[in-house]
Order: sequence, then C-alpha cells, then structure tokens
Amino acid sequence: MRFSSLGSGSKGNATLVQAAETCVMIDCGFSLKETEARLSRYGVDATQLDAILITHEHGDHVRGAGPLARKYDIPLWTTRGTYSKAILGKLPSLRYLDVHQCFEVKDLEVQPYPVPHDAREPCQFVFTDGQQRLGMLTDAGMITPHIEAQLDGCDALLLECNHDLAMLEQGPYPYSLKQRVGGRLGHLSNEQTAALLGGLDHSRLKHLVIAHLSEQNNTPALACNALVDTTGCERDWIKVASQQEGFDWCEI
Ligand SMILES: [Zn+2]
Ligand SMILES: [Zn+2]
Repeated sequence: MRFSSLGSGSKGNATLVQAAETCVMIDCGFSLKETEARLSRYGVDATQLDAILITHEHGDHVRGAGPLARKYDIPLWTTRGTYSKAILGKLPSLRYLDVHQCFEVKDLEVQPYPVPHDAREPCQFVFTDGQQRLGMLTDAGMITPHIEAQLDGCDALLLECNHDLAMLEQGPYPYSLKQRVGGRLGHLSNEQTAALLGGLDHSRLKHLVIAHLSEQNNTPALACNALVDTTGCERDWIKVASQQEGFDWCEI
C-alpha cells in the first residue's frame, strides 16, 4: 500500500491511496485542470481512479470533485449530510457511506469515522489492505476518544497540524476567525496533534505526514518540533504535505 498528496492546506486538498490494482482519491479541492496536472506529477491518470471519497463539503475538499467524477465516470462516496451541503452537481455514481460502517473499494477496506468540524456530517478515514493500516485526520476541532481508538496502532498516519497556538493568537486573522479555527469545530493545532500522537500506540508507525498546515499561522518547523517533542522521533523522518507540492508516494 502507498499514499501521496496532490497538495494540502486551505487552498485545496487531495490525497491518493493505492493498494495492488486499486487507487482512490480522498477529497478533490483543486479545479479539474489543476487536479489532472497534479495527478500527472505522480504518474497517475484519472482513468485509474476507482473512487473519490469526500470527507466534508468545504471548498478546499470538494472543488473539483464533481467535474472529475463526471469526466472520468468515477464513483463518489460521501455521507448523506455532506452530499446535502456540497456543491457537486450531477454525479455518474453516488454512494452514500455510513460513518460507522466500513466498506470496500476493490483491494482497499475503508473505515470511516466521524470528527468534530463545522460541517454537516464530516468524517475521516482509516484504510487497510488487510496487512497495513493508514490513518488520516484533518479538519477536526478536537480529539475525541473515538478518534484515538481509530488511529491507534497504525502503520502510517497523515495528521493535521493546522496552526501554532501562539501564531494564531498573534496573527492577522480577525477575532471571529481565530475563534472558529481554534474552536472545538475548527482545526487541530500542533499542540493538539502532538498530544494525540503522544497517547497513541506508535510502535508500528513507519510514516508520519503532517498536513493542512496554515500558511498564515504555522510553519513546518514549528509543527515538526511539536511532534518531535512528544514522540522523540527524528525531525527529518516527519514528512510535510505542502500546499503546492503535497508529497510524493510513501510506501507503507
Ligand atoms: Zn480543509
Ligand atoms: Zn473543513
């Protein structure tokens, strides 16, 4: 199993997970043209995608999803709540997912789980090919016991480090936006993600990627330092999914 990102942050998100002959895209927050260009960087043609999974309706996660699904006739999975709020247009194949029910896309088993975020019915995912587990978590305002249970003991993790608390407090955002981002339905700070990671069993963890970093309220160095402090891992071992580049394939 392997995974990569086409880009991550408030201007657009899309992640790829591949196992054997199966390739799925999680969220599609770039325009169709941009998505096609970014896919080609990793040698992936959109015709190879077996599914698009949508976590929630915010524009940085759904912008190109409808056009991509239509052009390449790709099934799209999301919750009923997300579908009711997302701008997706007519889809060739819509599959509703239940946030507590795992499902299969060919060689991949997908376990969705609910997260606290200011969207209608947001979820995140854990993927397995039967041997390795890859956990993803972005766009969550706080850590719940259920999130911890889902992400415990994974072989690879992609975790949001949205903001540094001090940078958010002292930064340029208006007060209301600071409250939203830092609130219980907002985004995870470096400190929250470090605390999450510190409490998880990470004995099997081979890859740690940090994602959805704010360009205004965080730096890769601050995020990495926060995680190094709680896990004792090597700083260079942590990968950062950037807005422009995302990150190249990680083999689990
Ligand atoms: Zn987002
Ligand atoms: Zn969001």
